[in-house]
Amino acid sequence: MKFSDFNFEPELMEGLSSMNFEKPTPIQELSIPIISAGKDIIGCAQTGTGKTAAFLLPVINKIIKEHKHVVNTLIIVPTRELAVQIDEAMQGFGYFTPVTAIAIFGGKDGISFEQEKKALTQGANIIIATPGRLIAHLNMGYVKFDSIEHLILDEADRMLDMGFSDDLNKIISFLPKQRQTIMFSATMAPKIRELAKKILNNPEQVNIAVSKPAAGVLQGAYLVYNTQKMALLKSLLTGKNLSSILIFSSTKDKVKELERDLLRSKFNIAAIHSDLEQDQRTEVLRQFKNKNIQMLVATDVLSRGIDIDSIGLVINYDVPRDAEDYIHRVGRTARAETTGVALTLINPEDMRKFKSIEDLIGDEIKKLPLPPQLGEGPAYEPNKKFERPQGRGGKPAFRKKR
Ligand code: AMP
Repeated sequence: MKFSDFNFEPELMEGLSSMNFEKPTPIQELSIPIISAGKDIIGCAQTGTGKTAAFLLPVINKIIKEHKHVVNTLIIVPTRELAVQIDEAMQGFGYFTPVTAIAIFGGKDGISFEQEKKALTQGANIIIATPGRLIAHLNMGYVKFDSIEHLILDEADRMLDMGFSDDLNKIISFLPKQRQTIMFSATMAPKIRELAKKILNNPEQVNIAVSKPAAGVLQGAYLVYNTQKMALLKSLLTGKNLSSILIFSSTKDKVKELERDLLRSKFNIAAIHSDLEQDQRTEVLRQFKNKNIQMLVATDVLSRGIDIDSIGLVINYDVPRDAEDYIHRVGRTARAETTGVALTLINPEDMRKFKSIEDLIGDEIKKLPLPPQLGEGPAYEPNKKFERPQGRGGKPAFRKKR
């Protein structure tokens, strides 16, 4: 199949060719005809499959064709980073078209709020927003969404996980009942089906490789004691010529600690976590994308939806809490059919969690030998029980497994 099979307008085809998009990915092949036909759709696809273009292209095409000058499409996303990323994709696809878009997300200054207000009231065609910031505008009374024809929810499962359910209901109450609703989610958990039942009208469903990391990711894991972790990480990072390496850790305190430690060892590294101001996060990401920074250590803020080209290596310094988060973290590498490596450090306490990841993806991930200078690591005993460390207030430091 080729993009020309979709009968897109020439201005849009020009944008696609300037971005070197030659042929549609499977999710695009499946979704674009459904969305172009005006039907509701629920798409189950992880980041890296090309889902952004799957929903943006047919919508942009329709706006060009029908000469819309009003707010036409609302895209709601869980994080600022994803909003920025979709906006950037939009600028690329829409470069030769008259279609306008704005990203609306929190953490910016008063000037941005005024610019957003202007775009909302004067009719940017496509609004890409995080729920909280959009509600701040809705509460001011000047937003008129009567002309909205498409509602798109991206990373819907993430939005529910982040507690945005009430916000979504509120936003939807501002929209016309007669509209096309498009929902993308990495998983089809029961709560997603429930939401779909509520807000979609007789949707078509498309599924792409549920709960499997993108093909092309070489996965491996190391069994380590906590005391061996830092030395192993440093040995994995030393001498790597890769331009972009992403390291994940579960908490922001650990991320900060890793950054400090690795900076002290003279690695070219920066950190990104929720304590940073939006401007700082954007700047760090920019430097990483420009390859001025070689390594980035991050919490899961970054694991979903963020598109950075050519990450050669992802390291999970600890095992992600949820198996789905593993897939998202690993999905940072091997984007759109390139190859990459994803390595996970597993301490004895995390073995059980890691086993549930292997169960989810239906595959055993290869356990690699430790470098000899580190000594022996533990054996893989995922069924062994461990005393959980106690968190603050005497509560277990770990969430119950979902
Ligand atoms: P996404 O899953 O939307 O985050 O897309 C993942 C990456 O694949 C992004 O870098 C896209 O620019 C790229 N991409 C998506 N669709 C295509 C395509 N048809 N041809 C080439 N690259 C693509």
